[in-house]
Amino acid sequence: MNVSMVDRHNSQSQHRVVIVGGGFGGLYAAQALGRAPVEVKVIDKRNFHLFQPLLYQVATGTVSPADISSPLRLVLRKNQNTQVLLDEVVDIDPDEKKVILPDGEMPYDTLAIATGVSHHYFGNDHWKNYAPGLKTIEDALEMRRRIFAAFEAAEKESNPQRRQAWLTFVIAGGGPTGVELAGAIAEIAHGALKKDFRTIDTTAAKIILIEGLDRILPPYSPDLSARAQADLEKLGVTIRTQTLVTNVAENAVTVRHENQEEVIPTETILWAAGVKASPLGKVIHERTGAELDRAGRVIVEPDLSLANYPDIFVIGDLANFPHQGDRPLPGVAPVAMQEGQYFAKLIRKRLQGDTVAPFRYVDYGSLAVIGQNSAVVDLGFVKLTGVIAWLAWVFAHIYYLIEFDNKLTVMLQWGWNYFTRGRGARLITGEDSLGKIAQRMKSGYYDAEKPTEQVEVR
Ligand SMILES: Cc1cc2nc3c(=O)[nH]c(=O)nc-3n(C[C@H](O)[C@H](O)[C@H](O)COP(=O)(O)OP(=O)(O)OC[C@H]3O[C@@H](n4cnc5c(N)ncnc54)[C@H](O)[C@@H]3O)c2cc1C
Repeated sequence: MNVSMVDRHNSQSQHRVVIVGGGFGGLYAAQALGRAPVEVKVIDKRNFHLFQPLLYQVATGTVSPADISSPLRLVLRKNQNTQVLLDEVVDIDPDEKKVILPDGEMPYDTLAIATGVSHHYFGNDHWKNYAPGLKTIEDALEMRRRIFAAFEAAEKESNPQRRQAWLTFVIAGGGPTGVELAGAIAEIAHGALKKDFRTIDTTAAKIILIEGLDRILPPYSPDLSARAQADLEKLGVTIRTQTLVTNVAENAVTVRHENQEEVIPTETILWAAGVKASPLGKVIHERTGAELDRAGRVIVEPDLSLANYPDIFVIGDLANFPHQGDRPLPGVAPVAMQEGQYFAKLIRKRLQGDTVAPFRYVDYGSLAVIGQNSAVVDLGFVKLTGVIAWLAWVFAHIYYLIEFDNKLTVMLQWGWNYFTRGRGARLITGEDSLGKIAQRMKSGYYDAEKPTEQVEVR
């Protein structure tokens, strides 16, 4: 990008704020700076804000990608002081005060970096070919393709063992995303698809949720974890706690529980465990000396800035904020939003010559959904489960969806699904839309006369 081009709106007198990332942290910062006497540039490598909390619903065919994505240019169009740029920041130069783009650079007076995290395979990056994680729209579409293609393959498979492998869904990680995925797949198998196939009984699908700790939803209180486990089991999910994934292969996952290894034949493994910081975390460390935690997140000062660099801020999931409570703040949307708003307030105050108190996160509670009419909500002073919790989850998600259009379409879609128990967006898409099924067909995998292959763990 040619800087002189992107800088054409700059009037040199105004304070230049560059925000990298238009996720919850970056977007809320930009929105809160809308009327401030500053020039804001929001740089994101995607042209849309993604409402990640509902990604699992794209992955399981409830809503479509556009329903949870909002074009950044549209969301920020009323902010006359803001320019949105589709680009990727690859480096920063804190001494010259500029961010580096693949084909240019951009100066700043104040910089906020909010590029988030992605999933982590704990040193086994090759597992991602067999066990996709969930972070982007593309990830969600890949999961959707694999989930619905598995039922299609099972329908054509005459060998009972292989059919069961197609009908076995293993989800690694019993945090909120793993729980949501497991619950939604169980609802697909036991509800939406039940009457649509002729050979298979979709209710025979095994949905196995693997968690290394002794309970699912570890950030929640033990009674809410127990309730979530009971609700998932009612939906038909098998939960294996204190169980570690030790290997992932194309058609099997190996797990260890109390020193016993077991190979589970499956064609669908979904990864919902662990996060690692965006690559800009390492760049920040190298350029400023800022400390990183084990996941590569940047340890920030009480005002979210970097030690020795008061004009560089890290907000959202990429930041490790260790100044409140025993543990760093969790990587959730409300933390990112409040950090974004705090950053905006700090900039306004600084420009007026004032200071602000250190950042304080106000925790209004946590919500995790299990399935229709089932969720767990911890508001601190009260814990909710069942239908009331589910309604609270529904309203919170509709409320925080960015655009009115999205609120409306998702609400209508959910309303329709509620009564029909349908899953309308269950398309198997992508160039490789048949994927493994086509490969198997070519190799005669569906030939019932052939002897059963041993599932091999590589
Ligand atoms: C599947 C899933 C489910 C979740 N469910 C919940 C939930 O139910 N409740 C909850 O509170 N939180 C949930 N979260 C967490 C929540 O989404 C995050 O905490 C939040 O998105 C963090 O916001 P952020 O701004 O730090 O990063 P993000 O929202 O991840 O945004 C980062 C942005 O930076 C951009 N970017 C990255 N690198 C670059 C670069 N080099 N140059 C330019 N742009 C770049 C990306 O394109 C992206 O737009 C979930 C997350 C996931 C993945």
